[in-house]
Amino acid sequence: MSSDLKFTSEIKDKTAELYKKIEGTIPKIEWPTVAPYIYEINKLKKEKGVTILAHNYQAPEIYYGVADIVGDSLGLAIDGDKVKTDKILMCGVHFMAETAKIMSPEKKVILPDFSAGCSLAESITAEDVRKLKKDNPGIPVVTYVNTSADVKAETDICCTSANAVKIIESLNVDKVIFLPDEYLAKYVASKTDVKIISWKGKCEVHEQFTDTEIIELRKKYPNLKVVSHPECPPEVISASDYTGSTGSMINYVKNTDAKDIFLVTECSMSDNIQIENPNINFVKPCNLCPHMKKITLHGILKSLKGENNYIEIDKKIIQKARGAIEKMIAVGR
Ligand code: SF4
Repeated sequence: MSSDLKFTSEIKDKTAELYKKIEGTIPKIEWPTVAPYIYEINKLKKEKGVTILAHNYQAPEIYYGVADIVGDSLGLAIDGDKVKTDKILMCGVHFMAETAKIMSPEKKVILPDFSAGCSLAESITAEDVRKLKKDNPGIPVVTYVNTSADVKAETDICCTSANAVKIIESLNVDKVIFLPDEYLAKYVASKTDVKIISWKGKCEVHEQFTDTEIIELRKKYPNLKVVSHPECPPEVISASDYTGSTGSMINYVKNTDAKDIFLVTECSMSDNIQIENPNINFVKPCNLCPHMKKITLHGILKSLKGENNYIEIDKKIIQKARGAIEKMIAVGR
């Protein structure tokens, strides 16, 4: 991180409480380079009337340091629409910024780094969906929110990892096309009688976890609770105590007496939850999302100053994609 911003005594004092909160995740020696960015971003976002949204997988200095709202991608898009400012800055990946734009078409949605992609979102194009529909006439298309606006626009209804089963069953059909996550599709298929036509997309972070590492960790921590995300491979889900969306994982942690927990998901989420739950030992075989980590304090400040990295989507695509999201919201999050 560039050091042209000075760690003044004023900044030291004004960020002291924050540092106390996140000190377990940032070495003291690094704080003088991190704090001035946090201070400057918070000052500038107020001057410019920008609300900062941060996904659960963002690093603690972003999640606790500069974000006004934190959560999962759909929650951020819905909450972003409710804020009074007419500018939003998304600390997340490209499809998340697009989803925020779909839900708030009149707002300017800034994304600090347009190369922050997602292996799942990039696994499928609108053309792929059109071909699937042609090959499977009459079968409704249910699409995970981790997709581009173009793909959502080709979709009958969206879903999240939390409501996928409910959404599929709400359609009252025997068969659906479920896109794009192959592992989430397998997980959903295990919970419903509806037949699933799936796609070959995978999350490059969750697919790295193995049941072998869970077995080894259980030997080391006999009372370990393993909480996995449904984007994980089926054998990892089978080896887990609980499987759910990021929001459900957070609720699980809040309501458990377990002392040792392995959150089988992106590593920063454990860091962020650890700060709120200091008495729990989060066992961390760490897998970071390289796309999420493209969002940095330096990049946030630069995009706040320039306001030139903003999302543009064709109005017709927004309208169709929003229809698929609103149908899902009507069924229930
Ligand atoms: S963690 Fe996986 S699903 Fe989430 S943005 Fe990264 S690659 Fe995409």
